[in-house]
Amino acid sequence: MKVHEYQAKEILAQHGVAVQRGIVADTVDEAVEAAETMAADGVTQFVVKAQIHAGGRGKGGGVKFTPSIDGVRPNAEKILGMQLVTPQTGPEGQLVKKILVTAAEDIAHEYYLGVTLDRGKGMDVIMASTEGGVEIEEVAEATPEKIIKVWVDPAVGLRPYQANEIAFGLGFEGQALKEARGFVSKLYNAYRASDATTAEINPLVLTDDGRVVALDAKIDLDDNALFRHPELADMRDEAEEDPLEVEAGKHNLNYIKLDGNVGCMVNGAGLAMGTMDLIKLAGGEPANFLDVGGTASAETVEAGFRIILSDPNVKALLVNVFGGIVRCDRVAAGIVEAASKIDLTVPLIVRLQGTNAEEGMAILKESGLPIESAIRLQEAAEKVTAALNA
Ligand code: GDP
Ligand code: MN
Repeated sequence: MKVHEYQAKEILAQHGVAVQRGIVADTVDEAVEAAETMAADGVTQFVVKAQIHAGGRGKGGGVKFTPSIDGVRPNAEKILGMQLVTPQTGPEGQLVKKILVTAAEDIAHEYYLGVTLDRGKGMDVIMASTEGGVEIEEVAEATPEKIIKVWVDPAVGLRPYQANEIAFGLGFEGQALKEARGFVSKLYNAYRASDATTAEINPLVLTDDGRVVALDAKIDLDDNALFRHPELADMRDEAEEDPLEVEAGKHNLNYIKLDGNVGCMVNGAGLAMGTMDLIKLAGGEPANFLDVGGTASAETVEAGFRIILSDPNVKALLVNVFGGIVRCDRVAAGIVEAASKIDLTVPLIVRLQGTNAEEGMAILKESGLPIESAIRLQEAAEKVTAALNA
């Protein structure tokens, strides 16, 4: 699960990480009020920042440095409600519904600092670079030697010498070196304590007056650990997520939209992966990954159909269900019920195998619905790609 920058900064601040001061606002008036609140404490310059679940906002005009308080209102008016297009949003962009007003820092240098999972090594990896403010992927591509990497065994935790290696490697000196060391270890603690899969600060800055502060923050949380953090789960902003994926989540379906034109409904993640492979092998492109889980009922099948078919790219639909715990006749009944309720506008190919497969096939046949069936998976994949070209 992704969270907004202002929420990521809240999480970090709770763990003592030094973040730039800021107040989130839903309206232009609230943004002006936020600036006035900070001005009362002596803040004279501000940054108005779009809050969307995508980076690269600066490039798209979603981050505006505002040298005096008079500029806060016009900048808030410009950003709030805009359809912000960044290199990470796609061409349609994302509607800005919230803005963060921050106290602007005077920057001496921008750095990159991030923690993420290295699944290959089974460890956390902290990455740092003196090339901050730039996409880390670009740095990795052009000048990989400029990225410092330190692997942390989660069973041991971050060792002081490792925090030092990063702070020293970034070239910090004196008091700032001490602060940077502390920053690294607090960032790592925040990452671990919140069960994050990524915590990224880009840029981390050294200010003109020698402080080490996060100007931006991105945190991705592990969905599978959210049950341990109800306060973090509450940070979910469904408006930022793919509406079909949100709908699928409500029915306990595991749905991920892809770019192809063959919709697939499968029970079990492994079978779903195998099905996608065979669709590709037969010359098609999967439009989605959809795991309906072990207990595919008429209800889940119907929800799955609706979700898959609301993607206009879907030109054919393949159902591949293995009856292990679930019975194929039940699934078939679900398909018939769903197909009678939903206007099925694309060819449907169904493969049922396992418990009560024959009964299931008979139900499909008797329904009189234009459903093609297949015995072998390869045959099903070939039929679905043939249907695309028909
Ligand atoms: P992103 O474009 O979505 O990554 O948004 P950031 O929060 O990283 O902001 C983009 C850029 O705006 C940063 O890399 C900084 O160069 C600049 N910026 C953000 N906050 C401040 C600030 O307080 N002071 C100054 N001088 N620049 C800032
Ligand atoms: Mn950034």
